[in-house]
Formats: sequence, structure tokens, C-alpha cells
Amino acid sequence: MNLTVIGTGYVGLVSGTCFAEMGNTVTCIDVDVKKIDGLKNGIIPIYEPGLEAMVQRNIESKTLHFSTNLAKHLGKCDIAFIAVGTPMGDDGSADLKYVIQVAKEIGQNMQHTLIIVDKSTVPVGTADKVKQTIQNELNIRKLNIDFHVVSNPEFLKEGDAINDFMKPDRVVLGSDDETSTQKMRNLYSPFFRSSMDRLITMDVRSAEMTKYVANAMLATKISFMNEIANICELVGADVNKVRIGIGSDSRIGYSFIYPGSGYGGSCFPKDVKALKKTALEHGYTAELISAVEDVNNRQKMVIAKKVVTRFGEDLTGKTLAVWGLAFKPQTDDMREAPALYVIKDLVQRGARIQAYDPKAMDQAKHFYLKDVPNVSFFNSKYETLQGADAMILLTEWKEFRSPDFEELKQQLSEPIIFDGRNQYNNQMMQELGFEYFQIGKK
Ligand code: NAD
Repeated sequence: MNLTVIGTGYVGLVSGTCFAEMGNTVTCIDVDVKKIDGLKNGIIPIYEPGLEAMVQRNIESKTLHFSTNLAKHLGKCDIAFIAVGTPMGDDGSADLKYVIQVAKEIGQNMQHTLIIVDKSTVPVGTADKVKQTIQNELNIRKLNIDFHVVSNPEFLKEGDAINDFMKPDRVVLGSDDETSTQKMRNLYSPFFRSSMDRLITMDVRSAEMTKYVANAMLATKISFMNEIANICELVGADVNKVRIGIGSDSRIGYSFIYPGSGYGGSCFPKDVKALKKTALEHGYTAELISAVEDVNNRQKMVIAKKVVTRFGEDLTGKTLAVWGLAFKPQTDDMREAPALYVIKDLVQRGARIQAYDPKAMDQAKHFYLKDVPNVSFFNSKYETLQGADAMILLTEWKEFRSPDFEELKQQLSEPIIFDGRNQYNNQMMQELGFEYFQIGKK
């Protein structure tokens, strides 16, 4: 099929590339000229394992193209995907300005029957708004073209996005048009070689809701476990053991119950907030979802609080090594990363920060921490330790899991570790002579 993917970010670029990999002809569109120029030359704007090679391969086989010209490519395509950002608006709702802008452009340029797919995470009712916006533009052009808007929320996770897209747990399709559903089914069938059971069809509103509920559920598991961690610490229990104790129950399971420094990223924070706002707009106060958000906001600061308890409110003269800046491993994405909150708080208290992340250094240096004083960046985790009073671990990259603890002891002025992701064994750390602080264990 001939596809146009509008918005070439994490979702658009991965989706477009994976559709191309399956033999479709795909053009990824973006308004960011620099990004598109770079992609045409094989420069990938994000870090995502496996993506670069797949993009290169499909550019070479001419199945993947990049452009800033939506009008030109819309005329040739069977399906147009909207994959632009839906950032948090000032009032907490999802800001739909990019989605609606794209809908307008589609209406202004559509020349033949088309399926328009909302892949962005959008609140219930957005497909109707997209439909209306396109129809308004067609009315202005005095054209009568048949089109359908389908909801196909994306569930990929950064860091494992290619794998998630190529072998999805499920694909959700919300549609009220049987022909469109069948076309989408055909598009996705190569991704389900063994069984099509994981392609789930439903009405548009339920599909839109499904995405928010999935993210809210995962965020709830994280906040629940973080709350339990804080209680464990107070009552003298070890959350690491409690986690294993409850995860072994098949009704609970082990995933998403790791205590830590809270969730971040481009999705959970904004989607939890947007769901709460949607509920409120319909007269319902979503108390549990509000609590999930409140617990997370508090949790992001737990490690900073431990630093303050150990060194005092005034951190002037203290140097702290920070391992990990991205909101999670295997990505360079720093949107809403807990590290941002921790570093800013510690700097405000007078500390100097020496930071390292395997992939997010450019993002940190040139964007997210550009204006934060007293933060310096190093090329390796060990270099950050020189002259530091403690090490703070904030992202659970594999290279941090089993470091050379002797080197840590030699480099740090005191052997102190604040572990915001519970990566190390408490007993082992005591035996090695570290003062070791983690989440949910005194
Ligand atoms: P992103 O910010 O990485 O990319 C969005 C892209 O859209 C940008 O490159 C931007 O320049 C482009 N854009 C904006 N307006 C445009 C227009 N009028 N025409 C063409 N391009 C335009 O965003 P993302 O992380 O890919 O997220 C996109 C959507 O997918 C969001 O709704 C998000 O919630 C959802 N989502 C994201 C993830 C994730 O892990 N990042 C996972 C699932 C769903």
C-alpha cells in the first residue's frame, strides 16, 4: 500500500519505517525541514535501537521517503496516518493544535477517497473533530470526497519500539466503516503471522479510550509500588523482597512493580493528566488517577530528599555524580525525566553536578539542562566520580548494573551511593563498605 505518515517523531518514524520494512511504500512528512533533510541523508534524529539500520535499508530499497510536502504525497496515498505530538496543554488537557492543523491540511489537499488514521494519542471524541475539520475544508473547496477516520493508537515503547511495532502485543483499531477496517486489517496482517487474534477491532471512542487506560494502568502500577516502597521504609520492611513476594502471584505479575524515582517520558505524565481532565470535563472527579499523579510528583523528589537528609539542606561545596539522565534506559528521551527534577533541586541547594548518560548527553547539554548552572558533562560514568561526594543513580542503564565498585570507592571522596532505581544488592553494598541509600529500604 501507499502510505503517508504525518509527523516524523518517535512514533511516526518508527511506524513509517516498520510499514516500509513490510513492503509498503511510505512517505514520512514533517514540518521540521532540518529533520527531514537529515533523514534524507540517513541521519536519525532520535536514538532507538535498530532504527538506523532499518531506515537506511528502506531508503536504499526506495520503500521509505521523507518530505515536507504533504500536498504532493497525499494525492498518491491510500492511508494517511496522523502521528504528530499531542503535548500537555496549560490546563492539563491534551493540546490538539497539531492534530487539527494536520486535519485542516488534509482537507485542503485531499483529492480522492482516503482513510485517515489517528495514531497520535488523542482524547475521546478527537476522531469526530478530525472528521469535522476535514469536512469543513472540503465544503470550502466544494468537493464531495468520501473519507473515513480510524483510531489506531500506538502502544510502542521507546527503547524497544522496533520490536514492539514488528511484533505487537496487540493492534487496536477503532472504526465505524467496514471497508476501512478491512484495509487496516490487510495492512497489519503481515505483523501477525501466527494469529490475527491480537488485532482488536472496536468502535472509535473505545479505541481512543483504550490508549489512555493502558497508560493510566501502567502509571498506577508504578505509583502504587512507589507508595508501598515509602511505607516499607517507614515500617522497616524491604520493598525489594515485598516486590518478589507479590509478583509471584500470577494475578499481579512482576512487570511494572519496580520501585524507583517515578515515571517520566513523553506519555505517562501527559496522558494521566489528560485522562483526569477528560473525566472532569464530563463531570467526574477521577480520584485514583489524581492520586497516581500526586504520588509520582512526590516520588521524583525522593532521592533528592535522601541526599538532603544525608548532607543537609545547604549543599554548597558538595559535588554529586549523576549516572543516568534519560527517563528510562535505551532512549535519549529526557521529556519529564526524573533526573531533571532531581538535578534542578540539588543545584538550587548549591550542589555541583557531574553527569553522564550513555545516550542522552546531547539532549541534556543542548536542550534540557542547557540553562541549569553548575552541571558539567563527562564521557564516561567513572569520570563523573572524580572529586564527587556521592554517586546518584537515576536511570537503570545496563552499564550501571555491575560497575567496578573498587573504582567507585577510589574516585568518590566518600563511598556513598544514592540508588534511585534499586540496582544493587543492599547486603553486598554494606560488605563492600558503601553507605548505600535506595528506595523502599532503610
Ligand atoms: P514527537 O514530538 O517525537 O514527534 C512529533 C512530530 O510531529 C515532530 O517531528 C513535529 O515536527 C511533527 N509535526 C508537528 N506538526 C506537524 C505538522 N503540521 N505536519 C507534519 N509534522 C508535524 O512525538 P512522538 O513522541 O512521536 O508522539 C506522537 C504521538 O504519539 C503523541 O500523541 C504521543 O502521545 C503518541 N505516542 C508516543 C509514544 C512514544 O513513546 N513517544 C508512544 C505511543 C504513542
